[in-house]
Order: sequence, then structure tokens, then C-alpha cells
Amino acid sequence: MAKPFHIQGQTIGPGEHAQVVLNIYKLPTHTLIEIPVFVFNGKKPGPTILFLAGMHGDEINGIEIVRQLIKRSDVMKPERGCIVAIPVINIISFLAGSRDLPDGRDLNRCFPGSKNGSLGSRIAYDLIETIIPQIDFGIDFHTGGAKITNFPQIRCVFSDKKNLQLAKIFSAPLVLNSPFRDNTLRKEAANRGKHILVFEGGESHRFDRISIEEGMKGCLRTLRHFKMIPPDKKAHAHHSAHGHKTVFLPKTAWVRAKSSGLFHTEKQYGDKVKKGDLLGIICDPYGEVEHHVIAPHSGYLVGLNNQPVINQGDALIHIGITS
Ligand SMILES: [Zn+2]
Repeated sequence: MAKPFHIQGQTIGPGEHAQVVLNIYKLPTHTLIEIPVFVFNGKKPGPTILFLAGMHGDEINGIEIVRQLIKRSDVMKPERGCIVAIPVINIISFLAGSRDLPDGRDLNRCFPGSKNGSLGSRIAYDLIETIIPQIDFGIDFHTGGAKITNFPQIRCVFSDKKNLQLAKIFSAPLVLNSPFRDNTLRKEAANRGKHILVFEGGESHRFDRISIEEGMKGCLRTLRHFKMIPPDKKAHAHHSAHGHKTVFLPKTAWVRAKSSGLFHTEKQYGDKVKKGDLLGIICDPYGEVEHHVIAPHSGYLVGLNNQPVINQGDALIHIGITS
């Protein structure tokens, strides 16, 4: 028999599913905010996987990925293991259309949190105390920051073999080696022996079709790998489970603007480039000066600045280095 899942005094037994809440949080207006958690427990034993989105309230692609995932009939009735989905963890920032909480805190710097701390600290505490101990691993969905589009990628620590194995199963187009940062969910979960991989795709405040599609495919590949949902019949017809090769990038670097002006890119996110390739042009608004931005390394464009007006030193292009 599979394990029961416990949350807020409720038990979701094998073969059961339920919409529950992480906790109830009180706002200055006495308004109560409940954070919905969807638990789909299979009858047979298997891994418990967390799909979490909306840590930053303006990063919508992940919310859409989890939304699409939990409306599938095969996901709602897993054959084994347990699927735990939180489409919007940072509801307050999501409603405000902002990345951070009303007090300016970044929810992903509030971990492990505390019971009587700030709003962010309480949400972090509830996740760490209630959800993390019951899962085997999870995916935390993010997007690039303001005006930066990320090509769909998994970020994890390469020195951890289990991380690499899970990243291979998810098979996002790119996998980046990304050291831990203090007070993040990823690090605090790792301190408790749990693996959280971060998915990054697209840009904040915008839908990115490619990132949503790749995120969704990765979730389904993972669920199929652990035989939690039935295999994809279409994939067999095309002789391969997925149409691309995953590229592992142990190191990345930012290409910064050597001059201020208007930035025109010559490449698209995800493009493979060679050292010396023309990446873009920075020109002044008067039609006089044009500077070439040249690739300092060979690799893949993992992130791209979409801001047309840039200043000296601004981050323009994030390259995942192959050589
Ligand atoms: Zn984020």
C-alpha cells in the first residue's frame, strides 16, 4: 500500500485525492488567505513528487504549467506514488502582480522560516515543516527576472548525483550547474535530504509558449519514468521519448554591455553560438555609433535581455559555456 499524506490534520490515503490548504494567513484587512494544495495519492507505493509554482508572484509560466498538469485525468489518478501540486505558493504577491511580498521580502530567501515570523517566513515554515518531510523530490518553477527571458532550463548542483539523475529524467533542453544560495527552498530542502530542482523558463509577467510546453513535457516525462502515469503512445510512434538532446552546462557567464545605447540582438534564446560570433549590436539613438557584441565563449544562450535601452555594464546575454 502507498503512504498516506498528512496536512493540517487531514489525511489523504492511498487512492484518494483532495484539495487542501497549506495554512491560513491573515492580512491587515482581516482578509484570510488560504494557499491551496492539491494531493493526488495513488494506490500503489511510489515516489511523492512536489510541483510548486508562483514563489515569485509575477512568474506566471510555472503557474500555467502546474495548472495544465493538475487538470489531466491521468495526473489526478496516479497509478502509484503521490503527486503534490501547489500552483501558486505566493498568492499575496501573485494578486499584487509583484515578485516580492508586501514587506519587500523575497519568499525564496525566507527559508527555513519560522512559525511566528513575517508572512514570508510563515509560508516558508509551513512548506518546510508540512510538505518537504513527506516528499522525495520536487520541481520549483520560476522564470527569468525583469526583462530577461530564460530558455527552458533546469538548475541544480551537478556534484549531487541524484540531482543529475532527476535532471536527466526531466530532460529540459538545458541543464545548468547552479550553486546553492542561502535561505532558498532548494538549499533548505537539500539540508533535509530532499532534492528540489529549479525550472526556469521565459520571463516574468509574460507567458512563454516554448517554456510552458517544455515544462509540461518534463513533468510528464518524470511521472512516466516512475510509472505514475501511463506511457505516451504517441512518443513510441515517433521512435523517441523526446525530440531533443539535453545539454548539460557546468558553467555560465554573463556578457555585459561595453557601451550604453540601444541593444539589438542577432540571436534567439536557446541558440548555439561559437566564440567570436556576432551576438548583437549596440547603437546610439543618433545613427552614428555601432558597437558589435561578440561571443566570448562557445555555448548556448540560456538567457537574453529584452530591454532595448541599456547602460554600460548591463547584463545582456547569459551564456552556458561549452568551451
Ligand atoms: Zn523566481
